[in-house]
Amino acid sequence: MSVVLVVNSGSSSFKYQLIDVETERRLASGLVERIGEPQGRTVHKVPQYGDDGAEATSAAEHDTIRRIDDHADGFQAMLDAFAQHGPSLEEQPPVAVGHRVVHGGARFFAATLVNDLVEINIDDLSVLAPLHNPGAVQGIRAARAAFREIPHVAVFDTAFHQTMPSEAYTYALDRDTAEQYRIRRYGFHGTSHKYVSEAAAGFLGRPVDELRQIVFHLGNGASVTAIDRGRSIDTSMGFTPLEGLVMGTRSGDIDPAIVLHLQRRAGLGVSQIDDLLNKKSGLVGLAGANDMRDLLARSERGEAAARLALDVYTHRLRSYAGAYLAQLGGADVISFTAGVGENTPLVRRGALDRLGFAGVEIDDERNESAKRGEITRISTDGSAVTVLVVPTDEEVEIARQTLDVATT
Ligand code: AMP
Repeated sequence: MSVVLVVNSGSSSFKYQLIDVETERRLASGLVERIGEPQGRTVHKVPQYGDDGAEATSAAEHDTIRRIDDHADGFQAMLDAFAQHGPSLEEQPPVAVGHRVVHGGARFFAATLVNDLVEINIDDLSVLAPLHNPGAVQGIRAARAAFREIPHVAVFDTAFHQTMPSEAYTYALDRDTAEQYRIRRYGFHGTSHKYVSEAAAGFLGRPVDELRQIVFHLGNGASVTAIDRGRSIDTSMGFTPLEGLVMGTRSGDIDPAIVLHLQRRAGLGVSQIDDLLNKKSGLVGLAGANDMRDLLARSERGEAAARLALDVYTHRLRSYAGAYLAQLGGADVISFTAGVGENTPLVRRGALDRLGFAGVEIDDERNESAKRGEITRISTDGSAVTVLVVPTDEEVEIARQTLDVATT
């Protein structure tokens, strides 16, 4: 049996998927939200599969509203949804539960079997990820109580990047201060970068440990990673997910002195600056829209702010592409993934269109006609670097790693 329950828990909601790792089929997925509020909500989806094994686009969806007291009650609501709408957890029992955890600090460099000590360590790392780790711990505690008999595994967003060399993860700050406050580059989206780099290698029929790869994960949050023969050697997100690329609502790289200037001259406090950089910057700050689809439509209508936002976005992508080509000494594969990366030919072209000198040649027609949900080559046949669009699937990657750890 290879069925795994994947849980992604925040402080007032959690998402779940029941995945058969062998077939990589999603047997069910859902969301429990507004935990602690009177109008708690559970949405449970059961996908249908055609004769060809492909997942149908529409899934039967079941919506329930009731008070959900806490995460433990949330898991009861999820179990009720399974009992009522299927699939039966008696007939297809999960053999393990995989938990997405954003921050594993420098302690966790791989998916880890959860015990009480691991749970305490994840909780300790809340200092570094105050918005994420506390919710993950609440989810882990409740899930361990709801599923007592099976192993639980924590899969960390940071773990894949623990292979970075010290010169890549060290900031040029006072050493004692950095050490005392555990300030270094950690990197995020690791599960996606790992999944995509392995899927790209599989598509090309090459072992991952022979390839130099650059993966652009461009979603609402965005990061890029340089992967040398299967190992992350540099990544654009840093101490937090704020660094690096321009994102939907986050600034990415800025001069740190801007923060001081805003404190001194604009009189902004810590939480105002936090809000400005994380929620009111990036594409939304530049053009008032964080969704790439809106931005493209506005740019086509000739709105100058939308055009500038797109230009700033792709300018940053090019800078990182060049930097990581240099760190890797050239690349064999460059992949684009996540909402923007999988769906926006203009962004893919903008990111790479000056890299002819490095052997990168995009085929415009392939780029424009890349099909949703499939791995597609968008470089020309003669391009020295293969450029791909690769749909990411973080849940399947979490399920795979969970099964691996739980059964070895
Ligand atoms: P993700 O974080 O991977 O779910 O990506 C979400 C983002 O992807 C959205 O905010 C949009 O900016 C972008 N996105 C999703 N679908 C499309 C699409 N069809 N075309 C362009 N951008 C899209």
